[in-house]
Amino acid sequence: MKLRGSSRILALSSLTLGGCLDPTAGGDDASATAATTTLGTTDSPGTAAPTSDPPTPTTTTTGTTTSPTSTGEPTTTDGTTGDLPPEPPDLWCPDGPQGGCAAQPDAPLEAGAAVLSIVPNCWEKWVDVDMDNEWKPQDDMLLDCGCDQKCPGDPGYTKPDAGEGDGELQPLFMAGFGHDRPAYGVRDAAHGLVGAGDGLWARAVAFRQGESTLAIVAIDTVGYFNNDVEAIREMLPEQDIDLDYLIVHATHNHEGPDTMGLWGEDLFTSGYTPEYRQQVRETIVEAIVGSFKDMREVGSMRVGEVDVSTYHPKGMANLLRDSRDPWIADETISAAHLLDTEGMPIATLVNYGCHPETLADDNYLVTSDFVHALRRTVETGSEWQTAEGKPGLGGPAIYINGAVGGMMTTLGVNVENPDGETYQASSFEKADSVGQMLGEMALDAVAMGEEITGPALRFAAKRFRAGVRNTNFKLFFDQKVLEREVFNADMPGKEEIETEMALVELGPIQLLTVPGELLPELAIGGYDGSHVNADGVPLIKPDNVNPPDLEAAPKGPYLEDRMGLTYRWIIGLGNDELGYIIPEYDFQLAETMPWINEAEGNHYEETNSLGPDMAGLVDQFADLLIHWSKQ
Ligand SMILES: [Zn+2]
Repeated sequence: MKLRGSSRILALSSLTLGGCLDPTAGGDDASATAATTTLGTTDSPGTAAPTSDPPTPTTTTTGTTTSPTSTGEPTTTDGTTGDLPPEPPDLWCPDGPQGGCAAQPDAPLEAGAAVLSIVPNCWEKWVDVDMDNEWKPQDDMLLDCGCDQKCPGDPGYTKPDAGEGDGELQPLFMAGFGHDRPAYGVRDAAHGLVGAGDGLWARAVAFRQGESTLAIVAIDTVGYFNNDVEAIREMLPEQDIDLDYLIVHATHNHEGPDTMGLWGEDLFTSGYTPEYRQQVRETIVEAIVGSFKDMREVGSMRVGEVDVSTYHPKGMANLLRDSRDPWIADETISAAHLLDTEGMPIATLVNYGCHPETLADDNYLVTSDFVHALRRTVETGSEWQTAEGKPGLGGPAIYINGAVGGMMTTLGVNVENPDGETYQASSFEKADSVGQMLGEMALDAVAMGEEITGPALRFAAKRFRAGVRNTNFKLFFDQKVLEREVFNADMPGKEEIETEMALVELGPIQLLTVPGELLPELAIGGYDGSHVNADGVPLIKPDNVNPPDLEAAPKGPYLEDRMGLTYRWIIGLGNDELGYIIPEYDFQLAETMPWINEAEGNHYEETNSLGPDMAGLVDQFADLLIHWSKQ
């Protein structure tokens, strides 16, 4: 990461808020050199998982909040016990209190999809003349053609436009690693195994059953704040779209533009331009409109899942690693394939959990990372150099990233593909290998899945407030680097922001949104080694100087144990990105400059989280929604 400017910025040099500054195989193990002595912040590990407590009588305070949002006070609600939750969801369908989605028994499920590019409209490219992977005006060539990237003589050139010929780069800052990473182009077929069609996309799928309508839009961005989602909701009525609930999911792509504000030219300059903010909002709206226009009766729905670790002798370790002890990776990839009544594809949804950051931080070509090849494989099939590929299913693929936190990454992983080629260093070949292998597994999940008759659509959502304990977040909110409404902003220690969670039922699938990067152990457990799904990999690295105290870890049942229906999907970064969601038993901050320095061992994620109570809140509001789903 390049640092410039004031000593204040230098003092924050180890700060890597909002993303994954983990460009080497050593990852945050290497960055832990900045660590100071360990400070255990929790002495009551049980609070991280309210449901591990014995069932408690329903004597918790109810109805004390005056706002429509919950205050996030801990409750004893346990969705599995039948205890009444303290309050219902804010909305649900069908037949929710907000109206507009009256139940219509026997109404068929309808679905439609649309795919639109979200590559920025306005930026300038450059040529890395000295090939040092760094923009330096004196050494490199600026393509000073303005917003539209067209100079005199280029096809379609009409007249000079904004920024043209001014000698200044109008940058597209790439997000996810350090600051000041201006893109020099968009990845195309000339790079990697299957580059054609790469880019950045908003992929919308809309569902309707009777009067109930739901849209899920997946965007290839690093994160997307709830206030942007709220703004989009307000734009829909003027498009004549009557949508009961919207989920915007960021795939957590680390190879595209800044959509949060953390990756501008320097630490205190947002890289999220007003123009791009508007473009993304309008494109998401357009994609939702398109998905409604595409709406057709679902004639066939196939749903299945396969175990990723069974595809290679190295297990999961051929495709990802968990950089934070204990090693726990969710080995499931799931897919749902929808056809209309004439057998034409509507969409294929795929769910898995890993950081799309294979190209790491020295890549300057905009790409959706492994997600591109994954979706392409599901749509049109895989293409290897010598090995036989698999045919695709047609129709658009919509990738939904799951529990990506703490930290599921391809960085440093030695990937072997069906051609027998291996890739460890960051490259498009590696991203394409990971994506195509996962895409083939998603195809297997559909092929070996089950045919669902008469799938039903239900959903519920709840808004709540979460405390902002991380002083970096507070600073960025104060400085407006991150644009976000803060409640109790003048009450130190009481600052809160508002977020939301939702639970969707689609046939046999239950999908839970979480507002950030959930550590998979919160969803599936695995502290006992039951999710070490990689040959020869230890649960805890032998050289970890500050290993987690697994005796103190939550005993379960974990989120996916408590959810209902047959297939349980986590929608990570669902309608918000509040950083890592970490089990409280192992939430550790450095003693000096906590939130900036890291505690010894694997504690990068804490510096990038809202605070230690996020896991408890996610558990609490998941249980509230799960409880509703069982009514
Ligand atoms: Zn991340």
